[in-house]
Amino acid sequence: MDASEPRHDLLTVVVAARDEAQALPLLHPRICAALDGLAGLRTRVLYVDDGSSDGTWEVLRGIAASDPRVSLLRLSRNFGKEAALTAGLDQVGEGAAMILDADGQDPPELIPQFVARWREGWDDVYGTRIAREGEGWLKRGTAAAFYRVMRRLSHTPVPADTGDYRLLSPRSLAALARLRERHRFMKGLFGWVGFRSIALPYRRAPRLAGHSKFGLWRLWNFALEGITSFSTAPLRAATYVGLLTALGAIAAGVVVVVKTLLLGDPVAGWPTMMVVILFLGSVQLVALGMIGEYLGRLYDEAKQRPLYLVDTWQPAAAGVSCTQETADGGAHAHATSTAGGQAG
Ligand code: UDP
Ligand code: MG
Repeated sequence: MDASEPRHDLLTVVVAARDEAQALPLLHPRICAALDGLAGLRTRVLYVDDGSSDGTWEVLRGIAASDPRVSLLRLSRNFGKEAALTAGLDQVGEGAAMILDADGQDPPELIPQFVARWREGWDDVYGTRIAREGEGWLKRGTAAAFYRVMRRLSHTPVPADTGDYRLLSPRSLAALARLRERHRFMKGLFGWVGFRSIALPYRRAPRLAGHSKFGLWRLWNFALEGITSFSTAPLRAATYVGLLTALGAIAAGVVVVVKTLLLGDPVAGWPTMMVVILFLGSVQLVALGMIGEYLGRLYDEAKQRPLYLVDTWQPAAAGVSCTQETADGGAHAHATSTAGGQAG
């Protein structure tokens, strides 16, 4: 197979899992069933064990032993979902990739619809949640606020209510692989890549088992990550807050001078003084904090550490679909009918 030619007959489902030993045995048969329904496509499933501590790896070994399409990647420790996904996508190599959560919140039954869009020529088919079942109002509300802020502050398009549940065409995947920044706000990275993207609405299901690893504090940090990775507006904000306070100070100064000239200078002004000092002090601290956020990220990037380390890589025994046997000759036949985003 010509390495320079994108493969339109191969799809790899990439699943990052941390402590999903209960959910994975329920999820895999569903993925398998969905892939079985795809004609003319060779499929693989790649599970990334992101430093699980609950026997996820053993469960995955079991799945791989009974399914020759499954490849496994085990990271040396928990690197976080973004790094785990990156590790998985790096292994895909050729063809398209479909990203799925391990907890069943992204229904694998929709994979054929994603593939259909890809065949129509879309590069980035992303799932958009029309319902977030099993999520409280707090999570929904903060999520909505986050997307609004993101839209205002950043020029990179980050579609609302969109996660990592998506299909990436070979060229999108190749583009993404070139973004090696350490602080990985995936939705932003997908948006940055661009190409032809289309939303696919779906109902987000509750988890199959276990609990979310993204609590409020982690979500807050996630939001910080998103904003600082894709916008420098907060850095500029300090300038404008400073300018505004300076204007206010000049106005207040004029008032004080005029008042002193007209009314004399009785000893006063304690409260005003305290207010001004405290206000300026806190504005400066906030501005310093913002600079610190960016500086810290710069420091992390400067260290140039790898994004993840691999403990074990276990390739699939065979890259065949459930219904079809190895179809290498059919590869080129499909390349013409499935544009996969080459035109664009
Ligand atoms: N995940 C991961 N590494 C982590 C945390 C989570 O690979 O450090 C995986 C997790 O197993 C799941 C997906 O990322 O497949 C989404 O995580 P979770 O369900 O906890 O997040 P939520 O759906 O609540 O946003
Ligand atoms: Mg989840």
